[in-house]
Amino acid sequence: MPVSSRAPGSVYEMHRQRWLHDRAAAQTLRSAFPGVERIRVDLTFRDTTALSPGAQSHAVYPAARAFFEFLCPHADCNGTFDLTDAVYSVMRDASAHADGTLECKGTRPRPGMTTGPCEVSVRYTIATKYRAQVS
Ligand SMILES: [Zn+2]
Repeated sequence: MPVSSRAPGSVYEMHRQRWLHDRAAAQTLRSAFPGVERIRVDLTFRDTTALSPGAQSHAVYPAARAFFEFLCPHADCNGTFDLTDAVYSVMRDASAHADGTLECKGTRPRPGMTTGPCEVSVRYTIATKYRAQVS
């Protein structure tokens, strides 16, 4: 096994490449959920051991990829927050709103250790705007 895991081509870079690949392979929102005009995802991070990373807001429109796995805001973490199930359950229930909390399951270099659990959690809000029904 390679000793250095932080060098370019490291597990973190491979993790990011895999994520980019998965995102590029996702179908568009239009084909996944034709009745949806916009999905807005707000993420508020909480880091128990350091300054919390900045909040993020993502708006997904019909031409965009219906991809709801978000990279952990720590660049050297190999974790993601996968909101796919949460978004799909909003769609299944034809509801407009969902929220919840997820923990990062990744690991990253920590002071005094080689690597440790990331321990960042995210509070998410999903807001869906449906197209006006023509009937
Ligand atoms: Zn993380």
